[in-house]
Amino acid sequence: MSPFTYLEPATIEEVVEILDRHRDEAKIIAGGTALVNFMKNQLIQPRFVVGLRRLRSLAAVSNVQDIRIGALTTIHTLETSRTIAEHVPLLSAACHYVATIRIRMMATLGGAMVYADPSLDTPPALLASDARIKMQGAKGEREVPINQFFMGIYETELRSDELLTEIIVPPQPKGSGTAFIKFSPATYEDYPTVSVAARLTLRDGLIDNARIALGAVGFTPVRAEQAERELLGMRPCEESFRNSAAAVTGSIEPLADSRGSSEYKRDMAVVHVRRALAIAAARATDVAIAR
Ligand SMILES: Cc1cc2nc3c(=O)[nH]c(=O)nc-3n(C[C@H](O)[C@H](O)[C@H](O)COP(=O)(O)OP(=O)(O)OC[C@H]3O[C@@H](n4cnc5c(N)ncnc54)[C@H](O)[C@@H]3O)c2cc1C
Repeated sequence: MSPFTYLEPATIEEVVEILDRHRDEAKIIAGGTALVNFMKNQLIQPRFVVGLRRLRSLAAVSNVQDIRIGALTTIHTLETSRTIAEHVPLLSAACHYVATIRIRMMATLGGAMVYADPSLDTPPALLASDARIKMQGAKGEREVPINQFFMGIYETELRSDELLTEIIVPPQPKGSGTAFIKFSPATYEDYPTVSVAARLTLRDGLIDNARIALGAVGFTPVRAEQAERELLGMRPCEESFRNSAAAVTGSIEPLADSRGSSEYKRDMAVVHVRRALAIAAARATDVAIAR
């Protein structure tokens, strides 16, 4: 690892000032689970590493209208949070599948977003939950919908002078059911061949709103909007799920790797979207019966 200077600012403003001054020469470290590997392998050699440990306010979840998740909140905190389980169940489920407990205790949600590996578990869950990403830089704060945040493999909308401060998620609509599937032929601690997050909202027995997002099927995590449209106004039945799942192939461009060929991943995406929709619909129906 090349030598670097470690800085530990006490406020968001100080972080932004350091980033603004050093731009690409400075790298933020949150949990360090991704960054340290990059540095050890000489893929990144920052002159300054900026620790966020003193920014405790960014390590909390709050629930005021929307669910606001500080960028430094760990995956383990989210996996075990009652607020997240109740209002963003897809994120709860996805966090449960991230690596091992040791990684989940260190890794942060903000770090996962900026890391932007298309195979991560949490981005599809947040895409299907209509999350927004909040950033703060030298020119002030801004928010983007998460479907505009991921630009490519390890590439995001975040500028070099910006800190990701919050992930904001609206509570899911009433009458919704969700399902997260991580299909991994090796172990769940590995990255998936395909992952699927689905949310269906029923009104008067018909599908009123649908969200389908996938991971590991292209250069970024993706929303399958055509597949979502296929479901609107339909009865939640096997035929609707099959038609929707078939439409997913138009939204994905899987890359072959050790977890499967491009064709295999395509087939698995269709299979697991259909399964996720069936589970989400059953859960939405249970919610409707319970009300
Ligand atoms: C062995 C192993 C197994 C894993 N398995 C899985 C898995 O099964 N599923 C899964 O989803 N993930 C998995 N991961 C990835 C893990 O989720 C990410 O490494 C982690 O979420 C990154 O968070 P971090 O806090 O450690 O980020 P860091 O390593 O600290 O940072 C990652 C990147 O984000 C930047 N950054 C961090 N926080 C901010 C911020 N607030 N603002 C701006 N930039 C920031 C850093 O500069 C760096 O470029 C695995 C990782 C490891 C090491």
